[in-house]
Amino acid sequence: MKYKHKILVTGGYGFIGGNFIRYLRSIFHQDVYIVNIDKNGYASNEEYARSYCDETHHIDITDRLALESVLNEAVPYDYIFHFAAESHVDNSISGPTVFVESNVLGTQNLLECFRNQNKGHGKFIHISTDEVYGHLGLTDPAFTEETPLSPRSPYAASKAASDLMCISYMRTYGLDISITRCCNNFGPNQYQEKFIPTIIDSLKNNKKIPVYGKGDNIREWIHVEEHNKAVWNVAINGSTGVYNIGSGVELSNIELVKLICKIMGKDADESIEFVADRLGHDFRYAIDCSKAKKIGMPGCNYSDFVVELESYIGYYISNGR
Ligand code: NAD
Repeated sequence: MKYKHKILVTGGYGFIGGNFIRYLRSIFHQDVYIVNIDKNGYASNEEYARSYCDETHHIDITDRLALESVLNEAVPYDYIFHFAAESHVDNSISGPTVFVESNVLGTQNLLECFRNQNKGHGKFIHISTDEVYGHLGLTDPAFTEETPLSPRSPYAASKAASDLMCISYMRTYGLDISITRCCNNFGPNQYQEKFIPTIIDSLKNNKKIPVYGKGDNIREWIHVEEHNKAVWNVAINGSTGVYNIGSGVELSNIELVKLICKIMGKDADESIEFVADRLGHDFRYAIDCSKAKKIGMPGCNYSDFVVELESYIGYYISNGR
């Protein structure tokens, strides 16, 4: 065995998983063996990560036998990073069933393979979201790891259920499992349906930017690379349990649209179209990530965020995604 770590990533053809694989390759070069599992769904971009993987298996994590065949190896995986999920809230409102299948059943299948085929060796990192906590009022304190789960969309409920499944495997079988709950991500390779790509794409093509309600919903934003650095940090320095990951950069949707219009030299008032609000639209998310900072997660600030956003806008305009 020539490499230092054998790593399984699920969802590596998606936005965050693809960037995670590229991040691992950038720090370990050939000193890591990366196996990717992805069903290659509508949001996937095979081109972005394929050449950074040692193996890719186009399988659905709801297919237990197919998963078992990938995990049934003489040399077990040292880390399993579980990114694969249905991830778009609007889709979960129009069709919730696939969210339960992929996010809940798929996660439980992977946990079973971790326990049986991987023999509980190594560490399992489940990538989750701040949306499992529900939403906040304007002046409420940020979510901590102790905030009770109170999901409001079918997407958030499916992620909360998968988190609870992970917690049950920690407690019942004593497995080494960490859960990361992150705020909204942006950066290269994000599928066009998400908010920041939609804004850039609309401005690029002289179309109106659809903004839900009055645009006053507040989100916390982190660049995907900061998220992935924090995930890796949890893997190597974290203990079993939950870690919130965030940036502290909170913006209302309308503030974000105006900032991107300014960067792209467009008139915001002429570029926005307010549309009927999302059903059950969460008002505000904000995340307290002091626990992750204690184990070495670097901090973020507003000026770093603006630089990262400018760089991503340039990337999107050149690459179309
Ligand atoms: P994405 O939709 O871009 O990618 C998800 C990938 O998972 C896709 O390539 C898809 O093909 C794959 N996948 C989905 N269901 C599968 C299945 N049943 N079997 C095999 N592969 C399957 O999503 P993303 O934005 O990269 O999100 C990755 C993870 O991060 C998700 O678990 C999501 O809940 C979490 N997360 C995302 C954000 C965000 O802002 N995007 C924030 C916090 C947490």
